[in-house]
Amino acid sequence: MLGAMQDWPLLTSSILDYAARYHGTREIVTRTVEGPITRTDYATLSRRARQLAGALRRFGIREGDRVATLAWNTHRHMEAWYGISGIGAVCHTVNPRLFPDQIAYIANHAEDTLILVDPPFLPLLEGIAAQLPRVRGYVVLTDRAHMPATTLPGVLCYEEWIAGEDADFAWPALAERTASGLCYTSGTTGKPKGVLYSHRSCVVHALATNGADVVGLRSIDCAMPIVPMYHVNAWGIVYGAPMVGAKLVLPGARMDAESLYALLEDEQVTFTAAVPTIWLSLIQLMERTGTQLSSLERVAIGGSAAPRGMIETLERTYGVRVLHAWGMTETSSLATISVAKGGMPPLSAEQQLDLQVKQGRPIYTVLTKITDDAGRDLPWDGRTFGHLMVKGSAVASAYFKGEGGPVLDADGWFDTGDVATVDPDGFVQITDRAKDVIKSGGEWISSIELENVAVGHPGVAEAAVIGVAHPKWDERPLLIVIAKPGQTLTKEDVLAYLDGRVAKWWMPDDVVFVDDIPHTATGKIQKIALRERFKDHVLPGIAKPAAP
Ligand code: AMP
Repeated sequence: MLGAMQDWPLLTSSILDYAARYHGTREIVTRTVEGPITRTDYATLSRRARQLAGALRRFGIREGDRVATLAWNTHRHMEAWYGISGIGAVCHTVNPRLFPDQIAYIANHAEDTLILVDPPFLPLLEGIAAQLPRVRGYVVLTDRAHMPATTLPGVLCYEEWIAGEDADFAWPALAERTASGLCYTSGTTGKPKGVLYSHRSCVVHALATNGADVVGLRSIDCAMPIVPMYHVNAWGIVYGAPMVGAKLVLPGARMDAESLYALLEDEQVTFTAAVPTIWLSLIQLMERTGTQLSSLERVAIGGSAAPRGMIETLERTYGVRVLHAWGMTETSSLATISVAKGGMPPLSAEQQLDLQVKQGRPIYTVLTKITDDAGRDLPWDGRTFGHLMVKGSAVASAYFKGEGGPVLDADGWFDTGDVATVDPDGFVQITDRAKDVIKSGGEWISSIELENVAVGHPGVAEAAVIGVAHPKWDERPLLIVIAKPGQTLTKEDVLAYLDGRVAKWWMPDDVVFVDDIPHTATGKIQKIALRERFKDHVLPGIAKPAAP
């Protein structure tokens, strides 16, 4: 027997409709790519998204067509996002920090027919336009006064393009499983693969993420997604904020600490989300200038592990509650969050930090487990490492066009490629990416844990650990360190700091100092590049291989 309730499909357009109707005057503040700060609101944004929808239809975009965006977090990007998926087309958010050849590859793989682009990325597209035969037009996300000269064919000016369209355009009735967005994984192994979100998965994920025990967004909040919309949908905040009518602050192109800090303070932001490297630079700025955060209440940190020292500094020095979260493109972003559960015994300050260092417990809609190489379940004892497997209503069931073959096991679990422990309360702790874990004498050493301990040294700005070949142990850890400006650090200082803080057999065999650690387009340490750079590194006490 079916329930007798209204069949109200979970569509992304319903989020904007709701925000426009009940929170119409709530502000959306953008640091525009052109420079100035502009203000709009949900009612206006909803009308302009409808105008864009009309322009897309007039251009010939139909249900299922892929329309790409190469853009920072701005109100125009948000209009594009809702406008594209609102008519049943697929919004393909492209990461502009990828190599041009990768962008050409994914635009062709996605079969993008139209690209909406921020002016600074035009030269990038000019360089690859010849490789994009399917693209029929480029819409520059600006007004006539700021249109740059370009050699691209078929260029349109966004403001002119949408100006004459109907602000009351009626969203079509779509089935909630219709594809709404496409986001490619960074492709650290092999070619990037597309994750195809549906309206339903986006809405369900945003509802779950807004829960009080998760990020707990409310209408009185002012949310600033620092994490870009091209990095797993800005972790869902551009859906979650309008869903509750929170004020939104979109930081545009300026990701430097000074610009972000100014927005946090000027707009009285209460919630933000960013990868740890952003917090590293913000903390350094606040330490240098002796400033504080007057309104920020909580921050979600994910994308890579939040080091204990960073959590402690934000909580104790700046009074900000840290929500350490884990997720991936394939899980629609956030899937676990480190928030204590009811029924747990009261935690001391140190135990609270121990908990926050973990990536946390699954949100509703997500299930987790760990398995051994043969796929057998492993115990939740907080010590045993295993492959982290997930399932849920906002977890990928396949990659776009079936790339890479089936991704679910016989019981529907998705292998995340991460290695983790799970404690008896269900809190996941990521040990490593399966391919980054250091295999020493048949045992595993967590590069993440070593990095986190190393950055606790007051003179260390950033640290990375990779495995280096060892004749006896197979691999041993090499610690790569950037010293804080003005600090003279020695290998002995760093090793003395680690001594007693990590197991003896985890101690790095060597420490090297560098000026720069490479990061991927989504802010993760580029272990592949480091392994390549240090592939001939000879650990102390090991005879150098004879020259051929
Ligand atoms: P992406 O799909 O680019 O967001 O990358 C997802 C991967 O980032 C995960 O599989 C993890 O390896 C890593 N990751 C995300 N959040 C965390 C976290 N809080 N701690 C450690 N690793 C993380």
